[in-house]
Amino acid sequence: MSGDHGELPVAARVRQLEDQVIAAGLTTDAELDEILAGRYRTGSPANGARLVARAWADAGFRDRLLADGNAAAAELGFGASGGGGYGYRLKAVQNTAQRHNVIVCTLCSCYPTSLLGPSPSWYKSFAYRSRTVREPRAVLAEFGLELPAETEILVWDSSAETRYLVVPARPADSAGLAEDALASLVTRDGMIGTAAF
Ligand code: FE
Repeated sequence: MSGDHGELPVAARVRQLEDQVIAAGLTTDAELDEILAGRYRTGSPANGARLVARAWADAGFRDRLLADGNAAAAELGFGASGGGGYGYRLKAVQNTAQRHNVIVCTLCSCYPTSLLGPSPSWYKSFAYRSRTVREPRAVLAEFGLELPAETEILVWDSSAETRYLVVPARPADSAGLAEDALASLVTRDGMIGTAAF
């Protein structure tokens, strides 16, 4: 298991614990790899897109998602089984005309993998991690997302304990679309906040 935060003492402790657990015959290296691989197999932006589409279609669900991300995700079957939840607090943040949200992990690469899939390399890059906090408007413009000057940008710094999901504003031309069609509009970058949706 690799540490979520890149601090070397933590990584070394994790490695040591892993060795002890394996040496005690409680698990095997292959079994640990399988658990991690399973995470990556099932983690997909299609999962996050289902949450966003439901939030767009159902104001009651949207309110529950914004109030308690873990509980709302569990309503759709995410995170409630096979491992006893996420192991972190999921906080959903909603974009509006007045306010745009973007997520970053300034320390390393924390990110809700089960809902967004494996994180892109730029998310882990030093440039993104350092610049998003200092000059979010410029960074978003480089992603092709030019926000009106009056739109406030909120930057959410992830941690091992709290991870964020951006709920993009529903596209104006999506009226009348069924939930599946809505979900197909939602992208990973939209849920990071580097795209409009
Ligand atoms: Fe991190």
